[in-house]
Amino acid sequence: MQNNTFAGQNGEYPDSTRFQALKEFHSAGRGFWTDVSEANWTDWRWQLKNRIASLEQLQRLLPTLTPEEYAGTLLANKKLALSIPPYFFNLIDAADENCPIRWQVVPRGQETHAAPWEMSDPCGEDTHSPVPGLVHRYPDRVLFLVTDRCAAYCRYCTRSRMVSNASGYDFHPEFDRQIEYVRRHAEIRDVLLSGGDPLLLSDEKLEFLLERLRAIPHLEFLRIGTRIPVFLPQRVTPGLCAMLKQYHPLFVSIHSNHPRELTTEVREALGRLADAGIPLGNQSVLLRHVNDDAVTMRAHAQKLLMCRVKPYYIYQCDLITGSAHLRASVRKGLAIMESLRGHTSGYAVPQYVIDAPGGGGKVPVNPEYVLSRNNDRVVIRNFEGRIFEYPEAADGTPLGRPPREIEEPEFV
Ligand code: SF4
Repeated sequence: MQNNTFAGQNGEYPDSTRFQALKEFHSAGRGFWTDVSEANWTDWRWQLKNRIASLEQLQRLLPTLTPEEYAGTLLANKKLALSIPPYFFNLIDAADENCPIRWQVVPRGQETHAAPWEMSDPCGEDTHSPVPGLVHRYPDRVLFLVTDRCAAYCRYCTRSRMVSNASGYDFHPEFDRQIEYVRRHAEIRDVLLSGGDPLLLSDEKLEFLLERLRAIPHLEFLRIGTRIPVFLPQRVTPGLCAMLKQYHPLFVSIHSNHPRELTTEVREALGRLADAGIPLGNQSVLLRHVNDDAVTMRAHAQKLLMCRVKPYYIYQCDLITGSAHLRASVRKGLAIMESLRGHTSGYAVPQYVIDAPGGGGKVPVNPEYVLSRNNDRVVIRNFEGRIFEYPEAADGTPLGRPPREIEEPEFV
């Protein structure tokens, strides 16, 4: 019954040395950039200006580039650009071809392997876009895209059709029309600013948008979806946080996939956001070679909480064209959820979701904890595989008999 890939027999947790190591916080360090001044290194604009963006740079800094990575990087700028800030590059383990950071940001030739059922717009965003840059797919909320640029480009990105503009999507948000649409639709109570990465806008431009959105009376709260605190924690300046805190209620969803991304620099950046009163949640994408095992995900979830971030979603990787090599199975995802629920704090357990292919929206997927429902009981199991009965009539009326634990042979 129980499919627990993390807890061993007798409640022991195997792989505890790796688990503890993953939970440690380290600085990304200076790597090849020891001669850069502290002022430059901590300046997000310097980091952006010095991104690794060409095959020549990558070959020089990563001499262990594999033929697969070489082939991918040759083609990257026609599909999804190569871009890695020096800070984030330092998290790559050059000695490890299977480094989980490397799999996420170094292009690979497999990205050109397209299956007929893969899609360039797997969430059907373009078909739910009433004005350029706005996606209205759910009744009471909208996605407000502000840019097609990111600090680094994730090789599995759902919006790889548009971000970086390598494939010529030519994204041009129309802020006036986007804001006007929100203003005219009183049912919209929640706006998610996304992209690309909204925190790549200057403080002034971002404030211009937040101010105008905040002035719309029916908007209850605003959200920003960003991977900047992970790719470029230097961007989370005290000035940015002071500006953001004027527009509460404002939530920020970050995107981190692996515990090694949570460095001391990231923890400090997230602390600044949290100190500005911003509730923080994390969205991870379940990725083969990166985080499709219980030890990694449990360490990641617990480390996020130490950074004051609630693990919010684990996404099944969308059927984005050329992503098969990075997609982990739903079975793995369910096993990971099984290994979390009950085995660690409820706050550390995110919701696992599949974005239904083609625009069906997010569907929560969970291991089965309700084993049966019939006329007089609901039969459930707990995280240890023990089975219990909850007395209840078919119409939901409580029944006058005590609940009980069921011995498995009886249930079977
Ligand atoms: S940061 Fe987000 S939008 Fe940008 S490439 Fe990564 S997943 Fe895509």
